[in-house]
Amino acid sequence: MKFMLAVDCEGVACVVGEPGTSLSHSANMEFARQEATRETNAALRALFECGAQQVAVWDNHGDGANLLFEQLDSRCEIVLGTGFARRFPQLDASYAGVLLLGYHAKAGSPCGVLAHTYCSAAYRSIRVNGLEVGEIALDAAVAGELGVPVICVVSDQQGCAEALHHMPWLEAVVTKEGFGRHCALSKHPAVVENEIEHAVQRAIRTLMEKKPFTFPTPLQMELQFTTWSRCLKAKIRRSGWRINSTKTLQKTLSSMLEWQC
Ligand SMILES: [Zn+2]
Repeated sequence: MKFMLAVDCEGVACVVGEPGTSLSHSANMEFARQEATRETNAALRALFECGAQQVAVWDNHGDGANLLFEQLDSRCEIVLGTGFARRFPQLDASYAGVLLLGYHAKAGSPCGVLAHTYCSAAYRSIRVNGLEVGEIALDAAVAGELGVPVICVVSDQQGCAEALHHMPWLEAVVTKEGFGRHCALSKHPAVVENEIEHAVQRAIRTLMEKKPFTFPTPLQMELQFTTWSRCLKAKIRRSGWRINSTKTLQKTLSSMLEWQC
């Protein structure tokens, strides 16, 4: 059995960043790297215990080089860096499942800790078929298009609610309850790491119940930007997108594999 563990940094325990800057530039980032590494190791321990033969950890926050690689369970492989052609580089139908760890709620979620959708400076919202979605659903739909289900999500309460709304069959681990963008009541890191191990064990036991998540096709994509200059720059960079009066680019895609954030 092969798995891919996608790791972002905002959703891990005791991470809230700080106002006025991104998590990557905040004083909380060093802890975020350490905790994302520990939570990843908790998931890896459970996956290998439950019979995984191969696990790829995809480090996907910011520049894609956040985890303390030398401290990761040495049985994993690591996908890192930026510039891949699509989300979930290397993922194909030979994988039994993907796990989303450290994920966060979509842009605009009032109590979502560090809520955003891909680049907070660029996107106000992303809609698929008229429905506002975040990274959890978008990434899940890329994996789903390849026939691979999301089996477990680790995020704050808002992120987990978003995941369960789209995929009620998955195992969710709530790391913290947000009271705003930069404040939360967090579980202790050791408690979260323990809960991740148990959730991953449950996810493997019920693997046959997990379903690949997809949006109905064709996909009506709408990207609303924060400013006109962001919108125009994106229009120049992307081909075939229509622009409209609400700082929005629109395009119909036939597959989530054509999606590039
Ligand atoms: Zn991130």
